[in-house]
Formats: sequence, C-alpha cells, structure tokens
Amino acid sequence: KADMAMYQAKDSGRNTYRFHNPQMSLDVIEHLQIYHGLRRAIDRDEFVLYYQPQIDLASGRITGAEALLRWQEPERGLVTPGRFIAIAEESGLITPIGEWVLEEACRQAAAWCQMGVSNLVVAVNISAVQFLRGNLDDSVVRALERSGLAADLLELELTESALIHNTENTLGVVRRLKSLGVKLSIDDFGTGYSNLAYLRRFAVDKIKIDQSFVRDMLDDPNDAAIIRAIIQMARTLNLKTIAEGVEHERTLDALRRCQCDEVQGYHISEPLPTDQFTRFLLTWREGWIHTAEGGKRAK
Ligand code: C2E
Ligand code: MG
Ligand code: MG
Ligand code: MG
Repeated sequence: KADMAMYQAKDSGRNTYRFHNPQMSLDVIEHLQIYHGLRRAIDRDEFVLYYQPQIDLASGRITGAEALLRWQEPERGLVTPGRFIAIAEESGLITPIGEWVLEEACRQAAAWCQMGVSNLVVAVNISAVQFLRGNLDDSVVRALERSGLAADLLELELTESALIHNTENTLGVVRRLKSLGVKLSIDDFGTGYSNLAYLRRFAVDKIKIDQSFVRDMLDDPNDAAIIRAIIQMARTLNLKTIAEGVEHERTLDALRRCQCDEVQGYHISEPLPTDQFTRFLLTWREGWIHTAEGGKRAK
C-alpha cells in the first residue's frame, strides 16, 4: 500500500507531491522513514539474524537453521522483514543488506561448526531482485571464503518468481553455485507458478511447502490434497520436502503420514536469537519429535 502511494505521488508530476488523503501521506512518510533508516542500518550495525530450526521427521535430528532477518530500529524496536524487505528491494538496498545477511549467516554457521555441531545447514533467503542482478555467485564465494564455511553447509532459498525469468545469466549463476556444492531450495512453494521444468533445470535440492497450505491441512481437504501432490511429485523428482509453519502436533503427525521429510514451525520453535538457538542445539533431543512436548522442553 505504501508502494502504491509512492507511485501515485510520483505520477502526479515531477516535484509535486499531492496526497489524496491523510492516510496515504502517512504511508508515504513511513515508507520514506524506513528507506532512510535502512540506508544507515548496516553502518550502525542494526541488523540481526534470528534462526529457526528445521527437523528431520524420521530421525528427529536438527538438519538446518533458517536465518531470518530482523532490524533493531532505535525507535521502532525489533522490525520484522514484512515491514522493510519490499522497500529494500524497490530501492536497491537489498543488495548490500543481502550481502550482509550472507556473510553473517556463513560466519555464524562456521562458528557452530567450530563448536562441534556437525552437518547443520544454514539456509539464507535470497530476494528475486538480488538473484536477478546476476552476480550472486560472487557474493556467495566471498562469504564462504571469508568464513571458511564448507559450501554444502549453505543453502539458498529462492522463490518461484526468481526462477521464472530463467535467463542465460541466472542459469550460469546457478550452475556455478551448484558446482561449488551450495544447496538450493524453493521457498513458499505452491504459491507461485509452480513450473516443474525449472526444478530440473536449476537442479533444486528441496521444496519448502508454503505455510498457507500447512496451516489448514487438517480442516481443508483441498490443502491436504495439494500437500500430498507436492510431496509425491518431489519424491518422483528426488527432491526433499519441508513443511513451513507447523504450529501443532497433529499437523506434524499428518505430515509424517504424507511422508514429508522435514518440518519447521512454532510447534518446534520460533525463530531464536543466536545464543538461544545455540542453547536449542545443545539441549534438543531427537526423541522429542515423537512427543507432544517437542521444542517446549528445549527452551
Ligand atoms: P519465509 O522465508 O517464508 O520465512 C518464514 C516466515 O514464517 C518467517 O517470518 C517466520 O518467522 C515465520 N514462521 C515460522 N514458523 C511459523 C509458524 O509456525 N507459524 C507462523 N504463522 N509463522 C511462522 P519472518 O521472519 O517475519 O520473515 C518473513 C519473510 O521475510 C520470509 O518468509 C522471507 O521471505 C523474508 N525474509 C526474511 N529474512 C530475509 C532475508 O535475510 N533476506 C530476504 N531477502 N528476505 C528475508
Ligand atoms: Mg525462507
Ligand atoms: Mg516461506
Ligand atoms: Mg518468503
């Protein structure tokens, strides 16, 4: 909505900003404030990464951690990405922010390795804008080199909208990333174009089933059917599946019956600041996946 307001203001003529109602002007002001704040946020060290565990349903092991960006804004407090990612994308600030995220996530993953945590894959969200710029491979190589992290412990979460424009350039970027050993997953799967051809072409490793299907799967037979179809297709193509947004034990059981490989969601744990995630890693017991208590006991 803030974006719309900006465009309408621009359309009304060069250097003239006309606001159609007070709410619209507030949106524009907030948009501008966030934009100006974001420009300084890296230098002022205001970004932090939270981590959310991903659990293998068969073994109960923690297989991964998704890095989720938070902005510790001095006046607003902890700001979640829904409030600022779109503005960062539209203004190009997503490039330096995305590089910071990659470097920080790789550094933290390497630190967990040094602590003796083995095989923990850190997943980093990549915006379509960042991917389509065409030099993501260079940023990834740099982040891996600086941190010393093994490439197969890094996973990049792309969206269907990033892959739909599969130009020669982006195909080259993906080939280079795959040859390094970096893993690729498709985030929010099922909400976009769900073109099966690109899953093959880009040698995707894993599909993240969007939380909108997971949320209602117990009540809505259509959502349950979609989930089963996605999992079946993924198995045929030899891809792993993870369900996002698992909030209840009964959902987890239903996913297990559908042969979903992994789960992520509040039922296991919310995204956690680094030190709390480290404690989660150290206290998690694999058998907890089979009990109602799950992550609650790990906290
Ligand atoms: P996403 O990648 O699909 O991440 C999942 C979102 O669902 C996260 O919201 C997470 O906190 C939330 N979530 C996890 N488990 C549950 C659950 O059981 N129930 C519910 N209701 N929600 C759950 P968050 O952290 O606010 O991030 C929102 C989106 O912002 C992400 O969606 C991702 O698209 C984007 N994002 C986050 N971090 C980054 C980043 O570093 N770079 C870029 N480009 N985008 C990011
Ligand atoms: Mg994600
Ligand atoms: Mg998602
Ligand atoms: Mg997303």
